Amino acid sequence: MKSRTKVVVIGGGIAGCSTLYHLTKEGWTDVVLLERNNLTSGTTWHSAAQVTNFGMNQTMVGLKKHSIELYRDLAKDTDCPVNYNYGDGGIRLANTEEQMDAYRHFTSMGKGMGVEFEVIDANECQKRHPLISTDNLLGGWWDPHDGNIDPYQLCNSLVNRAKKAGAEIYTDTPVTGLEQYEDNTWKVITDNGNIDCDVVVNACGYRVNEVAKMMNVQHPVASMEHQYFLTEDIPEIENADHRMPLLRCPISDYYCRQDKNGLLIGFYEQDCKPWGMDGIDPNFVNSLCPDDLDRVTDVLEGAFQRMPALKEVGIKNIVNGPITYTIDGAPLVGKIPGKENAYCIIGLRAGIGEGGGHGWLLAQQIVHGEACYDTWCIDPARFTSHSNVELTSLKAIEDYQNEFRFHYPNEHRPVGRSAKTTSLTSIMNEKNAEFKVVNGWERVDFIKPNKDFKYSHTFNFDEAFSIVADEVKNVQNNVGVCEVNGFNRFEITGNDTDSFIDRMFCGKITHKPGRVGLGYLLNHAGMVKAEATIANLPESDRGPKRVWYGSAAASEFHDMDWLTQNIKKDEQVTIKSLTNDQTILVLAGPNSRKVISKCSREDWSKESFPWLSVRECFIGFSPATVMAVSFSGELAYEIHVPNESLYAVYLALMNEGKKLDIQIFGARAVESMRMEKGFLAWKHDLITEFDPFETGLNRFVNLQKNDFVGRTALQKRINEGLKKKLVCLKVDCKHSPAFSGASLLEENKVVGTITSGDWGHRVNLNLAYAFVDINKAEIGTKMNLDLLGKIIETEVIPFAPYDSNFSRILT
Ligand SMILES: Cc1cc2nc3c(=O)[nH]c(=O)nc-3n(C[C@H](O)[C@H](O)[C@H](O)COP(=O)(O)OP(=O)(O)OC[C@H]3O[C@@H](n4cnc5c(N)ncnc54)[C@H](O)[C@@H]3O)c2cc1C
Repeated sequence: MKSRTKVVVIGGGIAGCSTLYHLTKEGWTDVVLLERNNLTSGTTWHSAAQVTNFGMNQTMVGLKKHSIELYRDLAKDTDCPVNYNYGDGGIRLANTEEQMDAYRHFTSMGKGMGVEFEVIDANECQKRHPLISTDNLLGGWWDPHDGNIDPYQLCNSLVNRAKKAGAEIYTDTPVTGLEQYEDNTWKVITDNGNIDCDVVVNACGYRVNEVAKMMNVQHPVASMEHQYFLTEDIPEIENADHRMPLLRCPISDYYCRQDKNGLLIGFYEQDCKPWGMDGIDPNFVNSLCPDDLDRVTDVLEGAFQRMPALKEVGIKNIVNGPITYTIDGAPLVGKIPGKENAYCIIGLRAGIGEGGGHGWLLAQQIVHGEACYDTWCIDPARFTSHSNVELTSLKAIEDYQNEFRFHYPNEHRPVGRSAKTTSLTSIMNEKNAEFKVVNGWERVDFIKPNKDFKYSHTFNFDEAFSIVADEVKNVQNNVGVCEVNGFNRFEITGNDTDSFIDRMFCGKITHKPGRVGLGYLLNHAGMVKAEATIANLPESDRGPKRVWYGSAAASEFHDMDWLTQNIKKDEQVTIKSLTNDQTILVLAGPNSRKVISKCSREDWSKESFPWLSVRECFIGFSPATVMAVSFSGELAYEIHVPNESLYAVYLALMNEGKKLDIQIFGARAVESMRMEKGFLAWKHDLITEFDPFETGLNRFVNLQKNDFVGRTALQKRINEGLKKKLVCLKVDCKHSPAFSGASLLEENKVVGTITSGDWGHRVNLNLAYAFVDINKAEIGTKMNLDLLGKIIETEVIPFAPYDSNFSRILT
């Protein structure tokens, strides 16, 4: 075995093989794959190996499209043949209008990625899949690209190509230890000797945490047992003139594909079983779990009813194997947070279909720092301190039980709740709060009129619409309070803090003590990486001169990694996370100044404390740091308080506020109000696929600065000219918001993609943001939106249709 290489990929399943191959495609050919046994000996060998183009968002659709194109190419490779059944399509069934709406949305979204899906009725489902009955069936969703592939041949073919490019593979080489050198390169220790490398990749499937432990991390990945069986030959299939399309059924939780002249049927039973929680037998290699068909009888019945031919046929073979899950069901592909030169491609639950695409995006990240798509939906940094294997296994059970029932907008499932709470959570609960989950935090979404109030999981505006309208109205006319827990907050100190911040942000950021600035961080490709507020706190009895960096709740690990990676060796900069130590109460509305003035002895007049000010003070008797910033577009104060003082500050505000009839408002009201003000949301409107000019952040870029991260690449992009532009749209529809990913069309050609959408209650408009072709960005341009299968007219309007001159904030 060689003693040094650039990248060591650990694990020879689809994840590792695809990563290795794609690293060579990106130009890194001095790369090695280490496999403890033989290739595919983990989960990959026994996979049902279906390859669909379905994805919940555009990144997932795009990466699966890459898999399919790659696998089609491999299948043609005579050098290393791969059996790939492609082109017979697949159907996802539906028996509710909500499911059909979801399919309509995914069809609209697919168009933007160049993938044509089709929504079909029940009869058409049966026409395309003659074995099924139409009982209790409304229709389905047709994926013409569905298919299945031989997973063993697939991995061999990838490895064959990687080897030809220069990669090396060592099987029967278990990795037993990992040590990191001072310069952040790695020593990989194996039973067959050691190998030094710049970068390590954990692609170890269900053994992910055995290897993670070697670098002192734990990934939120858990395994579930999963079963399918293969039937004897079915005469209707033998006599058919085409292969049966694949089936996936959210009604009875199974999937089914043709296998030779029989069927392969896999089940997602309710009585499901986690696997390997207490350690995995080292000899579990090319192995299966014991069959247990009794467990799946609940879902078997549904499959029999849908395909009566099954009742007549015998079972040939049963396969029960471990399949990995994460907290939200999507894998972890990217840099391991808190570690340098360490990546992972783990938690793949549909790894054969997705593996080609994940390996592609990971290799791009390793070689270029970023991939062609925004990879937040698979970024390992999206889970933070609350995420561990215990929580993951509970969420895995919930996810497994709902395998084909995707999350609807505003749906927050019950398992693993209350992972992160504050002293106000139970008080808000008493006030009938409906909570949503943000990075584990329980955040008030809106206040229900009573405990029993329920809202539908739907793509339309739901029953909370008028409640949210009232919460907005109160903030607009009076005063409201809203807890924003989990808001990410770092304290940055050290002599070089200001110059460090200047380098990290692409615009001019104030360093004036007592002032707050908003700015954007770019990646090295000049694209929008992060958004943060910078609050300059002068030296005081609470600490030295310091800067508070505040950003979205989910960005904690993401932003910490990016900032710390970019501190230069000779720079004196220290970053400490206060995210879990402090919480924010937002006081918003024209009467907010009256309330805060009653609770504190400071002068809160606009002359003494104008917009974008920050000061340390007391609210009641509790220490607080208050910023005059507003996401709602009304006069507002962000009151940052240590967690232990939260309740006392809340009581102080409510005691004074009740004289003015202060009301609670939640995250849904905030979402509606920020859309009206033209404020952007990280990882919705602010993504790495666009630069700050395309995102309309011109006033936050200062090209006079010689040096900021991403400047050179940004200048190159400017020279080439803008191709896309973020716009605000008025949507001519009253029943549904525009959903992220939906396509804007002109004569059936996609000219834009929605990033956010919501009703603006103060302007009484259905609003959306979208990235559109540059020639569609003019105010007044009309475009058709494919919204849940209907064509809806939209028109580009100026950003911030509510109070565009900020008179209400500056008052
Ligand atoms: C019954 C069943 C049906 C499925 N059906 C489908 C389907 O239809 N479509 C689909 O897309 N997906 C399906 N899946 C899921 C899919 O098979 C997996 O997502 C995929 O195979 C995971 O690949 P992997 O490379 O991540 O893991 P694995 O295949 O488990 O590979 C990990 C590799 O790492 C190696 N390794 C571990 N530790 C070390 C170490 N210390 N040193 C060196 N090497 C190490 C292991 O030996 C193993 O070879 C199914 C899964 C199951 C169980």
